[in-house]
Amino acid sequence: MKKLRNIKPGQRKRERREATAALQKQAAAFLDHAQECCVCTTPFERTQETVSSWHVSVIEGRVRLACPDCWDLVKQTVEKEQ
Ligand SMILES: [Zn+2]
Repeated sequence: MKKLRNIKPGQRKRERREATAALQKQAAAFLDHAQECCVCTTPFERTQETVSSWHVSVIEGRVRLACPDCWDLVKQTVEKEQ
């Protein structure tokens, strides 16, 4: 019987996880030089609080930073686009 699938079970999942990890790394690196919310341009001051309350998302390969107030808006937009 000819083997049709070369991909091992679980490989796709792993690739996906690696891609997500890479994006998260990119997003974390972005926080080091992020300056403002991409929606309302509130200045981003890096503190423990902002790091946990502000959101970084990768949309179409671009990293966006959003303050807690704008995050809902950004999230809605992303969900609509997907
Ligand atoms: Zn904002």
